[in-house]
Amino acid sequence: MPIELDNNATTKPLPEVIEAMTEMLERAWHNPSSMHRSGQAARQRVELARASVARLIGARAKSIVFTSGATESIHLAIRGTLAFAPESRRTIVTSAIEHEAVRDLCGHLASRKGDPFRVVHAPLTASGAIDPARTVALLDDSVAMVSLQWANNETGVIHEIGPIAEACRERGIPFHTDATQMVGKMPVDVGAMAMDLLSCSAHKMHGPKGVGALYVRPRLRLEALFQGPHELERRGGTENVPGIVGFGVAAESAAAWLGDGGERERLASLRDSFERAILGSIPGASVNGNGAERLWNTTNIAFPPLEAEPLLMLLSERPEGEAVNASAGAACSSGSLDPSPVLLAMGVPEREAHGSLRFSMSRLTEEREIEAGVGTVVECVRRLARSATSVIG
Ligand code: PLP
Repeated sequence: MPIELDNNATTKPLPEVIEAMTEMLERAWHNPSSMHRSGQAARQRVELARASVARLIGARAKSIVFTSGATESIHLAIRGTLAFAPESRRTIVTSAIEHEAVRDLCGHLASRKGDPFRVVHAPLTASGAIDPARTVALLDDSVAMVSLQWANNETGVIHEIGPIAEACRERGIPFHTDATQMVGKMPVDVGAMAMDLLSCSAHKMHGPKGVGALYVRPRLRLEALFQGPHELERRGGTENVPGIVGFGVAAESAAAWLGDGGERERLASLRDSFERAILGSIPGASVNGNGAERLWNTTNIAFPPLEAEPLLMLLSERPEGEAVNASAGAACSSGSLDPSPVLLAMGVPEREAHGSLRFSMSRLTEEREIEAGVGTVVECVRRLARSATSVIG
């Protein structure tokens, strides 16, 4: 098995998640909308899962809408809110470093025929964090909503969104955060913030793929993407019961893990030792987003003048036990030769963005994997640098 240092690390389902999902598929497979006992047994499992996900983010169970993943949650949050935007408010404040689920949707809303929105990007600091004061300064009477990520999926940079959410609340502007990378990895308490909408996904916390949640503040107006009676009329369609139950188990497990802050510190220092060992061995390597507060599980390292793709291939072609799975830019767009638009928007020079790799850990990552990973990365970078020099020479 390769050493798992790409963002699949967090998508490995926990054994208890698999067990609960299997049970739902094999035995408790009834439709939770059915009135009979079997249906109601499935309903109870869905509602227990809702309570678990709600607890993980400090919300009430009724505020949680289950979806097919963060992408759908984001669409429901943004489209569902903009459906009620007054004529005079046609601006969306977002950032250029959002996941494509937000970036592409905002691009679409800005370019659609008929009634386009204007998209304004929040200013960033030199480390690639959203600048709260300069973002608040953008909040005028034309703003229909604000949608900003909480933590970046490529660099792990955590943004200070609290003051922006607060300023939105004071001005009556709905505030949504894409917290997909944050929930399950860091403590989140929506009750302690001026949060209107929050998107997250089960597969970022060892739950199943294809299931997510949207937190909706009580009494917030939201138009459903799919009409129907389910999910309190906020998301029509029979629920993905095994997925939702698996999400609930993953959320319970993440909440228990988050209870011990020492674990996050241990993993952050493991990540730091990975960075130190690589930067100490590879001249010219640098960490993108360094200087900002970052998630404990992510590092994004530039290896100029190398290109990311051959390096990724070389890393994954090492023998069993040494091979490293990593990614270039957003994993969802790997295969593309273009440098990451997120890194470019952060001001990373093009040459460095081309040669940047993202390494992600999960809470299951072990110290020996990090040590072996360093060995493989250093060897592959050196080998590729030698062959690049001999080709150029
Ligand atoms: N937002 C962020 C920050 C992500 O990292 C991801 C997935 O990687 C998504 C949104 C999309 O999530 P999903 O795959 O559940 O639709």
